Amino acid sequence: MRHASRELTCQELVELVTEYLEDTLAPSERLRFDAHLRTCPGCTAYIEQMRTTIRVLGKLSEESVSEDARRELLATFRTWKADVAKRDG
Ligand SMILES: [Zn+2]
Repeated sequence: MRHASRELTCQELVELVTEYLEDTLAPSERLRFDAHLRTCPGCTAYIEQMRTTIRVLGKLSEESVSEDARRELLATFRTWKADVAKRDG
């Protein structure tokens, strides 16, 4: 059982991105997804990138969200967050 108030992690957001872009997320999941996007520039940029991919390809293919791409993305987030932490003190 999921706790509705718990914030989505970047990992979870990446797992849900296909459903989000296809608009098949449950309303409660979508709210959490949007809430995460508001606080996470890294994921916002990722969603924008995915939207662009869909525009170019016409649809979201499995290859565009491959395991490698996810790993790379999450590594980028970690680096980005580390940079922010450094900058903030
Ligand atoms: Zn995020």
